[in-house]
Parts: sequence; structure tokens; C-alpha cells
Amino acid sequence: MDFRYTPEQEALRKEFDDFFREEMKSAPPEFDASMEALFEFDHCWEFHKQLGRKLAARGWIAMAWPKEYGGRDAPLIEQFIFNEVRGYHRAQGLDPIGASMLAPTLIATANEEQKKEHLPPLARAERDWCQLWSEPNAGSDLACLTTRAVRNGDDYIVNGQKIWTTGAHRADWGMMVARTNPEEKRSRGISFFLVDMKTPGITISPLYSMGGGHMFNEVFLDDVRVPVRNRVGEENEGWIASQMTSNFERSMIDLFSKARRDLEDLVQFCKETKAGGEPLAKNPLIRNKLAQLEIEVEAGLAFSHSVVWNQITGGLMTAAPLAAGAKFLVTEFTQRLAYTACDIMGLYGQVETSKWAPFYGKYVNYYQVVMGLNMGGGTSEIMRNLVCTMALGLPRSW
Ligand SMILES: Cc1cc2nc3c(=O)[nH]c(=O)nc-3n(C[C@H](O)[C@H](O)[C@H](O)COP(=O)(O)OP(=O)(O)OC[C@H]3O[C@@H](n4cnc5c(N)ncnc54)[C@H](O)[C@@H]3O)c2cc1C
Repeated sequence: MDFRYTPEQEALRKEFDDFFREEMKSAPPEFDASMEALFEFDHCWEFHKQLGRKLAARGWIAMAWPKEYGGRDAPLIEQFIFNEVRGYHRAQGLDPIGASMLAPTLIATANEEQKKEHLPPLARAERDWCQLWSEPNAGSDLACLTTRAVRNGDDYIVNGQKIWTTGAHRADWGMMVARTNPEEKRSRGISFFLVDMKTPGITISPLYSMGGGHMFNEVFLDDVRVPVRNRVGEENEGWIASQMTSNFERSMIDLFSKARRDLEDLVQFCKETKAGGEPLAKNPLIRNKLAQLEIEVEAGLAFSHSVVWNQITGGLMTAAPLAAGAKFLVTEFTQRLAYTACDIMGLYGQVETSKWAPFYGKYVNYYQVVMGLNMGGGTSEIMRNLVCTMALGLPRSW
């Protein structure tokens, strides 16, 4: 594989870099700490939305989508470069669920009417989505879900409960899986729906994380009417489409790139901060830790490039086991990075608002937020199971 970008791709990379460098000067300080701040604080959400409108005006939200749905028909590598630069600048701006997971699934599986209704507003950054998948008794084993959708004329009537729904309180629409045939076992009998979150019967209740932030929600569905035209694919055959959404979120370049930037900041901090009259950067134990992180982030970035290379040359399914590997590599690495940073900062790392707080106190929150990273979108154990079965050809163990 060739790791170099072409001169045209380099020029594009620079254009993205110049844009984000300028725009992020006015980002709220909490913005880079985590996705939690984005969904929790109104001023962070507003910054995210105005950034999204600027990205949309440049055609950068939907670069690899077909032109007729608001995209640019650009090669996948350009979308990848965009996400690499966006991650480095710790910028959001595009809907992590609607634009990154749902849109490619709709392009692959939805009917023409659904594509025309939902893709252009996503490309214009006008509509935000949430993912109504997990339930109190269905997470890793999503096929256990019990939310029911019963056909009634031109509608389905939906009853059930979803949990851990990131950003439901900000979302306009939700993509949902529900059981349409209780006689069928597990993944058979499940259908995939697009749900307007303002439909009567939907109640959203906040779930606060251990850091006190509001990103998650419980979503209760009581006799919610979902039009039949909002079912994606055939009745009882929504499982495949729902699994596709998972494949799209996992080249992980934005997270590796963000980790690269966080590590650069940490190295700078160690050069500038003295303990016992000496810069931290001279302490052999700290140097050892930083060297370890540096090797890991470089290996991770290279791995992420190989995922996209495989997606381009072999297709999404060929790259799926690599993408699963990238998911647990980057989330576990981000945890090690956050824990090491707190370790190096000592008690100061726990100060949130004070002139003594390094990095304006972001690590107090970050330390807690990173714990969930290797659960959201599928846990590390599930990702390792996928590598075992898909890449190594081992038998299923469950
Ligand atoms: C940050 C974050 C964001 C999220 N956002 C959303 C969202 O927007 N929408 C949504 O629907 N859900 C969301 N979730 C929920 C997430 O998808 C689930 O937490 C995840 O699928 C795990 O399910 P669970 O929590 O029920 O744990 P369980 O499935 O009960 O797992 C418990 C433990 O058992 C292990 N385990 C389970 N099965 C196996 C197996 N076969 N082999 C080995 N180990 C196994 C797991 O790895 C885990 O360690 C989010 C979660 C987090 C943390």
C-alpha cells in the first residue's frame, strides 16, 4: 500500500486544515473535551451547528455520496482525509449518527423516496439523528430486543423502551430497530424504521453519566405511530441494514487523529512544566510513557490508513474485520492516553476550574468519558470476537 497522498489530495488536505484551524479559534473550550459537552451545553451545540452549516456550504459533509442526494461523488479517500483533518482539530460539525452511519446505509438499502427525503437535509446539516438500538436487555446481543412494531393500516404502532440513546434530546429523527414478528427467532423478525422524534408517544428522559454530563437518554415509546413508508427495506428483514450502520463508523481515523493531537499537547506540557526544578520531559519514567504512547498512536494511524485502503480496494465487507480491530485499538489507546495524562499531571489533573488546572480542566471529564468509548458502537470483546471469526476463521463461541 502507498501511504503518500497525491499532490491533489495534499492540496485538499491543506484546504481542510486551513479551514478548521481558523474556525476552531472560536470554539468553546469545553468543545474539545468530549462528545458529552457537545450534547450537553447549548453553546457547544450551537457552535457545532454553525460549523455544520459552513461545512455543508462547502459540500464537505457528504463528499462521497452521489450527487443526486446532495453529495459530490468524491472518492472515499477524500472523505477519509477530511475526517483525518477534522479529528486533528477536534472539530465536529457533522452529525456523527446521521451523516456517518445512517446516510451510507440509506444509500445502500433505502428506496428512492426515502433517499430523497432524508439525504439532502443531512448534507445541508439541517437534520440531526439518534440511534434507537440498545434496550435494557439488549446491547451486545441486540437480536434480543423486545420493542414491538405492530402493523395497523398505513402505520406501525410501536411500544417499547430504548436506552443509552446518545443525543436523543437534540435529535430531529431516530433510526430504530423493532420486532415486527415475535414468532421469528432473534435477528429474523426485526425491521428497520425512521422515526420522527416529535411523534406523539415518544418520551425522552435524561441519563446522566458519572461525570454529571447529559449525553445519554432513555427513550420510551408508547403507541407511537410510524408510517409504513418509513420502514427501510422489507418487513422482518431490517437486521442486515442495521448491521451495515456499524460497518461505516469504524475506519476511526478521526479518533486516531484527535489522539495524535492530544499526545502532542501532552508532550508540550511535559516540556514546559517543571517539577523539582526540572522539566517533566527529563523524567525518565515520563519519557518512557510518552515514547510508548507515541509508538502506539503512529501504529494506530497506519492501521487506520490500511482500513480505508482495504475499503477502497476490497469493499466494506473485506475491510470489516480490520475496521473492528481499529475500533478497539483506538478506544483502548484513548483510555491509556487519558489515564497517562492524569497520572503525569498528578493532583493538578483533577482540578477543573482554576489557574492551576492544566488544559483548562478537561482531563477531569475526559478521564471519566473515555471509559464508555470501548462500549459505544460495540464493546471491545465483541470487536475481538469479530476479528476471531471474520479474519482468523475461528468458530463462533456464542
Ligand atoms: C458512549 C456510548 C454511546 C452509546 N450510544 C448509543 C446510542 O446512541 N444508541 C444505542 O442504541 N446504544 C448506544 N450505546 C449502547 C451500546 O451500544 C451498548 O452499551 C453496547 O452495545 C453494550 O451493550 P450493554 O451495555 O447492554 O452491555 P452487555 O451487552 O450486557 O455486555 C456486558 C459485558 O459483557 C461482554 N459481552 C457481551 N457479550 C459477549 C460475547 N458474546 N463475548 C464476549 N463478551 C461479551 C461485553 O463486552 C461487556 O463487557 C452507547 C454506549 C456508550 C457507552
